[in-house]
Amino acid sequence: MKVIVSGGAGFIGSHLVDELISRGVEVHILDNLVSGKLEQVNPHAHMYVVDICSEEARRIVVDVQPDAFFHLAAQADVGKSVQHPKYDADVNIIGTINMLEACRQAKVRKFIFASTSAVYGNLSKDLLSEKDVSIPASYYGLSKMTAESYIRLFYELYRQSYTILRYANVYGPRQKPKGEGGVVAVFLDRIKKGGHIHVHGDGQQTRDFIYVKDIVAANIAALDRGAQETIQVSTSQRTSINEILGLLTDTYGISVDKEFTDAREGDIKHSCLCNEKAKKLLNWNPAYKIGEGLKETHAYHNELDE
Ligand code: NAD
Repeated sequence: MKVIVSGGAGFIGSHLVDELISRGVEVHILDNLVSGKLEQVNPHAHMYVVDICSEEARRIVVDVQPDAFFHLAAQADVGKSVQHPKYDADVNIIGTINMLEACRQAKVRKFIFASTSAVYGNLSKDLLSEKDVSIPASYYGLSKMTAESYIRLFYELYRQSYTILRYANVYGPRQKPKGEGGVVAVFLDRIKKGGHIHVHGDGQQTRDFIYVKDIVAANIAALDRGAQETIQVSTSQRTSINEILGLLTDTYGISVDKEFTDAREGDIKHSCLCNEKAKKLLNWNPAYKIGEGLKETHAYHNELDE
């Protein structure tokens, strides 16, 4: 089998590439390295440093003629999207359309898209479902929601088959210490540098933290399952910021100097995504408990030290 992974030099994409290569798949990567790193690109992958919005990227897709296209390349920073909505839309909407057109031309069997819980905006519910209304509260959520709509319409008009995966808060090795989704990486980075940990609000806010290897497994399952479906990839478990800190300090004997600061404007208190549909349609289950995922992530951060 031959696939393309856009964003294959990034945090999640590089793990997906590693797993595909370990399964004997021929992997081609499209990445302009704006946030990805060459050092984390598997040496057995075919790497093209290219922008997904370009003609050149289109040509590569048509030349390679992959069986499947994993579309992970994105402007994935919520804060940046609010500061630069046009740039965010160019990459996440126009870039996705460019890749959809190329896939249609190359007769790609399956388009697998990395979407996000950010499409739900500030919707406050104990457990979000795929049927809940999407009212994004950031341009990032809006651009991902719009890209989803283009993908569905490409199927309606041209029968370009797809699976849309909406990830919860992903964490794991290689994540950059930035942003809300990266809270585990931020904490481990602060611990390493011996700095204070600033907790916004009372630390009781919860998120659905999913380990990067579980996200990879869901992407691979989507090669053969979940056609024309939008599916949340999550643990269905709430973990508070205080619990994350507690696990890091108690389990690994790390001392943390923590300080509670004002809650951030617009931050939602709880976010948790139901994973029943993923279990049923993808025949997938999250394999990692938060303690196990944190252990591997912590080990990775320790290695970086050496
Ligand atoms: P990342 O920034 O590490 O990876 C994105 C990759 O895309 C990078 O390698 C970057 O260089 C590349 N890229 C960006 N713009 C590009 C362009 N114009 N042309 C070519 N390449 C470009 O982010 P990540 O956390 O690995 O996210 C991967 C995907 O998963 C994204 O689509 C993101 O929206 C989605 N996602 C991530 C999370 C999370 O918690 N990390 C949650 C939900 C969804």
